Amino acid sequence: MSTASSSLPDTDLLRQTIRASGLKVTAPRVAVLRALQRLPHSSAERVFDRVKDELAGTSTQAVYGILAAFTGAGLVRRFDPPGSPALFECRVGDNHHHLVCIRCSAIRDVDCVIGEAPCLEPSDDAGFVILSAEVTFNGLCEQCRTISSTDDNP
Ligand SMILES: [Zn+2]
Ligand SMILES: [Zn+2]
Repeated sequence: MSTASSSLPDTDLLRQTIRASGLKVTAPRVAVLRALQRLPHSSAERVFDRVKDELAGTSTQAVYGILAAFTGAGLVRRFDPPGSPALFECRVGDNHHHLVCIRCSAIRDVDCVIGEAPCLEPSDDAGFVILSAEVTFNGLCEQCRTISSTDDNP
């Protein structure tokens, strides 16, 4: 009966991951990390929706606090697409970038263009040491492109 759950992240592994990042393991943190592994690029609101049944008495604010702690510990990456609330994901440390659909807000990961941070060099660094560059490629996803071309040819 447990075939469907065999590919899901194991709670022990989640606890280990949280502990290894230097944070205390709590039930809400485990639930939030599990939700985020299943739903990458989620807002705090979406994660809250996912965990609220499991965690009685939790709030969006509490989830947001956990996500902020995870981000600070390097366990989670925060991504701020234009015109959307902050999104969070578990894929960290690879300096990957994002493709964002301007019509339906679909988000896809795309590997770092160069292969390592900072990927891009600014035309003028103003004396800064550049550590990373976040690139957002705005466009139309495949599905929205199909809709657009159908609109053009009724
Ligand atoms: Zn789209
Ligand atoms: Zn991503």
